Amino acid sequence: MSFMPDSTRLRSTVEALSALSTRNTLSDGCAQAAEWIAAHLAQIPGIEVETMRYVMPKGRRVPEPRFAPNVIGTLPGRTDRRIVLSAHFDSLNLSVRPHEPGAPGANDDASGVAAVLEVARLLAAIQPECTIHFALLSGEEQGLLGAHALAQRAQREHWNLEAVLNNDTIGSSGNLLGLSDPTAIRVFSEESPRHNARELARWMEWQTRQHLSDFRVKLVLRRDRFGRGGDHTPFTMRGFSAVRLTEVHEEYSRQHTPDDLIEHMDFDYLAHVTQINALCAASLAQSEPAPSFVRIVRDQSHSTTLRWQGNSGQKYAIYWRDTASATWRGCREITPEGDAFTLQTTIDRVNKDDHFFAVASLGGIPQPAQ
Ligand SMILES: [Zn+2]
Repeated sequence: MSFMPDSTRLRSTVEALSALSTRNTLSDGCAQAAEWIAAHLAQIPGIEVETMRYVMPKGRRVPEPRFAPNVIGTLPGRTDRRIVLSAHFDSLNLSVRPHEPGAPGANDDASGVAAVLEVARLLAAIQPECTIHFALLSGEEQGLLGAHALAQRAQREHWNLEAVLNNDTIGSSGNLLGLSDPTAIRVFSEESPRHNARELARWMEWQTRQHLSDFRVKLVLRRDRFGRGGDHTPFTMRGFSAVRLTEVHEEYSRQHTPDDLIEHMDFDYLAHVTQINALCAASLAQSEPAPSFVRIVRDQSHSTTLRWQGNSGQKYAIYWRDTASATWRGCREITPEGDAFTLQTTIDRVNKDDHFFAVASLGGIPQPAQ
């Protein structure tokens, strides 16, 4: 399935949101933006809309505790598995007080909101295995507060949450230094035994290479930009696999200023990033359950035999890469031999000493082989 985002709709979302004088979470503009987003999601057939109010505790940028809204559109799936696509709709101007104007936040992060709303439209027609939550969050600029509230809820309600794709500042391909790359998006991921975010990012890179010839994922193998934070982190902290998408050449001087304007954005670029979100979300949401206990058999041979637990009759994908490569270099789709407790396949002439391997359900996140 190919998902073609509509640049005109992406632009009209950014226009509407950046026309509000501010969307600071402590301002009336935040509530207006939340209403606009909820009304927009409500027009998409099949999407259930919820405004989730959470308490922002007193903090560095919150003088008194108060309620703030997250807006969540949900496309129900057939199973209890879930994925989240997120962006933050609040904006910030660091040089004025919270209710004062001058925070258009076109790129940071109306760009992400536009992408998530467009993916909701593109995917509304599919009947996914996984429930997809389109999460538009507030309080990002006050300390990732909306994302913390949603991640806490996911933990409290024991969500079977397999992936979070967080989009923040994804609408411009170049900066004022003249550095430009209209053909790549960065995906930041953290490596941890508590979640599979690194493998999610690696798989997004592979998936993009398979489906798009003119655009790529640039993997950044760290949690986030240096010394900065994002809404994926409240999820990884709680053991969920979450990554951050951000443009390659940010213009730091415009962020959190009145100059974060639509005229500095590139909607062809934003459309490509939106397409990656749609491709990856659709694939994950339609995949069968992931394999478990993926192991490499310890025989001495030039081939590699993998064993795992899963469903017999289901299709899987085997991935491999040279140990010095950060990206998958080979992939084979197979229907394994054996019963559910010991599914097995052999990849001939790919040596386990020189390669890393992973097994995925077809279209799902690879699980590294131990
Ligand atoms: Zn942001």
